[in-house]
Amino acid sequence: MKTWILLGAPGAGKGTVAEMLVQEANVRHVSTGDMLRSAIKAGTPVGLEARGYMERGELVPDKTILDLVGDLIRSEASDRTILFDGFPRTKDQAAGLDLLLAGFGGKVDAVFQLDVPEALLIDRLAGRRVCRACGAVYHIRNIPTRVDKVCDKCGGEVIQRPDDTEETVRNRLAVYARQTLELIAFYRERGVLFDIAAGGPRQETLQAVLRAAASHSV
Ligand code: AMP
Repeated sequence: MKTWILLGAPGAGKGTVAEMLVQEANVRHVSTGDMLRSAIKAGTPVGLEARGYMERGELVPDKTILDLVGDLIRSEASDRTILFDGFPRTKDQAAGLDLLLAGFGGKVDAVFQLDVPEALLIDRLAGRRVCRACGAVYHIRNIPTRVDKVCDKCGGEVIQRPDDTEETVRNRLAVYARQTLELIAFYRERGVLFDIAAGGPRQETLQAVLRAAASHSV
């Protein structure tokens, strides 16, 4: 089993790249955010614990996250590469992941850092609009709706998410940068960090990730 990690600011396109890697590289995409949202829906003890933190936009305690990830790693019987998205978020989580993987003779093989200029991130997020009904995603300039504020797909109302206003976006980016700096340093020191230029078309970003993985046999 190989382990890859996807790092990228909000708006860097992590979700899209992960989806493409699932199709092209047969990886198993693991988003701790998705796992926590399912736990909340299912009303499990982890969900009950995580809910408050998530609603406040705070990080869920490291131990809870590491327990979740530990269960997942133990249950992963196949040889497929695991691609973590949204994990690790702290250095303690990164150290905990090392311990978990070491138990299976594994390690973090590659960390792909999606690099997008800040001005572009702000434009992508602050210009993003979503359909209230079906969740379709638009952009005021790049992917406009045919009729103002009306979803092309379902006719639902198209709105701006409250956390996509420019001020909130700047704050989210600052929080991300603060949280991630130490992780980037941690993995760069080990020589497993790959900086991927991710400001262009999504296909180019995907190819850059695949090239980095192939050229280093990770
Ligand atoms: P995400 O979907 O990755 O943006 O995560 C949504 C929320 O879930 C975050 O704001 C955190 O509250 C929580 N969360 C997800 N992954 C982690 C993690 N690795 N460590 C701590 N909290 C997390």
